[in-house]
Amino acid sequence: MSGYLARMAEQGFEEVVLVHDQETGLKAVIAIHSTARGPALGGTRMWVYPNENAAVDDVMCLARGMSYKSAAAELPLGGGKGVIIGDPCSEKSEALFRAYGRFVENMNGRFITAADMGVAEDDLDCIKMETAHVVGGSSLGSPSPYTAFGVWKGMRACAAEVYGSPDLKGLRIAVQGIGSVGQALCRHLADEGAELIVADIDQAKVKLAVERWGARAVGREQIFAEECDIFAPCGAGGAVNAETMPLLRCRIVAGAANNVIKEEKYGSALHERGILYAPDYIINAGGIIFVEYSRQGGKSPSEIKTVIARIEGRLSELFRRSREENVLPEQAADLIAEEKLREKLNQPLPG
Ligand code: NAD
Repeated sequence: MSGYLARMAEQGFEEVVLVHDQETGLKAVIAIHSTARGPALGGTRMWVYPNENAAVDDVMCLARGMSYKSAAAELPLGGGKGVIIGDPCSEKSEALFRAYGRFVENMNGRFITAADMGVAEDDLDCIKMETAHVVGGSSLGSPSPYTAFGVWKGMRACAAEVYGSPDLKGLRIAVQGIGSVGQALCRHLADEGAELIVADIDQAKVKLAVERWGARAVGREQIFAEECDIFAPCGAGGAVNAETMPLLRCRIVAGAANNVIKEEKYGSALHERGILYAPDYIINAGGIIFVEYSRQGGKSPSEIKTVIARIEGRLSELFRRSREENVLPEQAADLIAEEKLREKLNQPLPG
């Protein structure tokens, strides 16, 4: 491993910790990008990486992303992330997660963790046996419906920007990935009268969307080429890439997935083709908003939704800035997040 201290300095990281437990064989990396706005909250992922550097790269990229996401959502949180190096299908044990929990505890609340890929709510219950610096677990509801609610509101801002009205009624929306967020999103869109096109690897989920919301099913590859108003990536990241870019026939790309644009150049390519892009970490912040307000307590689900609904106004403001400053929407998002990261925050959650 080399060059990491230089990268930490360049990107403003506070701490990247390699973690090892002899007894359980735990190998993990925890990255704290920033605690300027509050404790570094971010999920822990369990994954098989080709090598250690890949794990460190992944955790650093994700931790920095969390700082930007929470800052842009105006939450009193910093950004961090953990990765446990191992196969989530065969290497999980209570002892492993408890050992990890002890390392989280040693960070004295600078890092607060949650579930991410490969780490389920009952794994969090094991981590919780050793530390209170965890959100989630089987007692907290799923953030996915809240993420979907925010994406739906964000789509309204996109429609207003492109068509002059936030109304989604009659718009044709192609949803790629009908998982926990995709399903909740389809329900909101169908309720508003949008026309749905869906695709998923799992045909049972496709069938459900057809039956429940009258969606039209298409193949996994076909969804990119469907003529539609909004293409909504809600599956894995990297949906906008070299292969899919020339296929897209939409006016807007707005969905729940993280890292929708595989490389920066595809963001410029979308813009050149007149396709509006809703930056992922702005539009999909409903889940983190739900998690943080639940952690702090004192708000009902409908009050939390009122806070999440501000994503609509936040995106409209971002699009205005993108136009006026002649920068791409994703660049405007970074500018906004970086400004907020520079603010010293010492105030309660916005009401
Ligand atoms: P999920 O695992 O419940 O659902 C994802 C669905 O996408 C699955 O049904 C899967 O079969 C499908 N899929 C994956 N790749 C596909 C492809 N190439 N073509 C078609 N379908 C494909 O996940 P989720 O919780 O619904 O999250 C969806 C996306 O949103 C993920 O990228 C996630 O990182 C992101 N996200 C989720 C939340 C949340 O609250 N769950 C918050 C922020 C971001």
